[in-house]
Amino acid sequence: TDTYSYLKRNPNFKKLSQDDISFFQSILPSNGLIIENDNNYDDLTSYNIDWLRIHRGKSKLVAKPKTTEQVSNIVKYCNEKKLAIVPQGGNTGLVGGGTPIFDEIIISTKNLNQIREFDPIAGCILEILDNYLAERGHSMPLDIGSKGSCHIGGNVATNAGGVRYLRYGSLHGSILGLEVVLPDGTILDNLSTLRKDNTGYDIKQLFIGSEGTLGIITGVSILAPTRHKAVNVAVLGLNSFKNVQDAFITSKEMLTEILSAFEFWDVLSFRLVKTHLAQSVKFPLEDEYPFYALIETGGSNKDHDEEKLSDFLETAMAKGIVENGVIAQDNTQMKSLWSIREGIPDACMKVGSAYFYDISIPVSVMYKVVEDVTSRLKNAGLFGKNVMDVIGFGHIGDGNLHLSITSKTYSLEIIRLIESCIREWTDKYKGSLSAEHGLGLIKAKILDHSKPKAMVDIMRQIKHNIDPNGIMNPYKFFPYQ
Ligand code: FAD
Repeated sequence: TDTYSYLKRNPNFKKLSQDDISFFQSILPSNGLIIENDNNYDDLTSYNIDWLRIHRGKSKLVAKPKTTEQVSNIVKYCNEKKLAIVPQGGNTGLVGGGTPIFDEIIISTKNLNQIREFDPIAGCILEILDNYLAERGHSMPLDIGSKGSCHIGGNVATNAGGVRYLRYGSLHGSILGLEVVLPDGTILDNLSTLRKDNTGYDIKQLFIGSEGTLGIITGVSILAPTRHKAVNVAVLGLNSFKNVQDAFITSKEMLTEILSAFEFWDVLSFRLVKTHLAQSVKFPLEDEYPFYALIETGGSNKDHDEEKLSDFLETAMAKGIVENGVIAQDNTQMKSLWSIREGIPDACMKVGSAYFYDISIPVSVMYKVVEDVTSRLKNAGLFGKNVMDVIGFGHIGDGNLHLSITSKTYSLEIIRLIESCIREWTDKYKGSLSAEHGLGLIKAKILDHSKPKAMVDIMRQIKHNIDPNGIMNPYKFFPYQ
């Protein structure tokens, strides 16, 4: 609360009235609306509180439209009446972007879940889309730990990265077309399936990573790569972060075209998963190692790929880069290895409170950031008192560190200390304070610091031009004025 006490409700925004409710009821059936009453506190609360359980809005109405036309009618009405909106997908965002601050209306994409056509293909849950494509021999070019809940619209709105980024790159490349409802209700129909189209500005790119501040994404056309017939996963135990880097270099040399993912985590991350998720996660290596890496390969020939991965493991062990390693023997083991890496955020949340930072920084200094944050918190006498652990994990292949600090309760002192430390590192190495999670509310204040004024001015002009009343996801993304 203290951190955001500067936020004041914009008095230009209208408060929800009975007339507004009647309008929404005329557009949506009763199961498409949640309106505050004495009996639905829990249901409404689940939309008002974010995944981190830090932010709690006071929205009195959730609209769950089923069609683009319904979205358009609702947004147009809100714009005319100056009712502020928060678009919400799976509500798994980690920067407080998907939940209201005050009484904004939540437009959820839960019911916008139709897969329109396969030729090549919003509220669609990422995992459901991937399963749908698996049956057709294809896959999503995106895979993230929250895949069971997050929506494709949310993924596009946050330009989510994840573990397949190493192989397929950014959504800026994989998205072929978008359908977006603009704040005035206009339906921007750019659901193109063309790989190449150089006619005019590529407007869809504006909405990828716009975090609900420019419009509501209601349709996505995405390039779905052919699914790998052969997938192999290995987990390695390593003695130092230098060895993690060497293992990555060796894997690129030896696994080249089949390397799909290279993730790492430290021993403290491992212990958190072991302590809090022991019932659902199996641990493959008996001894503990200071660092772990997970490698996934994807190709077309299982024997060939397995041989390459075994050769890599043998070479890396012979060179003293890797201490120990295990290759999954079947699908169940593969999922089990992945669940260690994917379980880390959940395990952090079991401690009580967790701060999640997500930075881009050269791999060579990546882990020094974790060590520096740890020693500063120790020197400030915060360890044990409130702070429990400082852990590092993330996407080595993309130079993307996730740094998490678990604590008994949230504290402004801890936040200030961590943020100034991280900022020093990203300034020094020209890194980014938000690699893949976006700005939302938590990081809005860093935009001015992260980009030249001229660029932020253009962003504001675009926002003002598309959303002159500022109804789309207010208080987020831009530094608050
Ligand atoms: P929400 O949280 O509902 O919303 C996120 C933002 O997008 C908000 O600003 C919201 O207003 C906007 N938005 C949502 N839907 C729409 C829409 N249809 N149109 C316009 N704006 C919209 N992220 C990564 O990048 N990589 C990871 O590896 C990763 N791993 C994660 C693991 C865990 C366990 C968790 C909890 C989160 C992880 N995330 C990761 C963060 C999060 O899952 C992603 O940001 C995801 O893309 C958010 O999707 P969502 O549907 O939950 O969006």
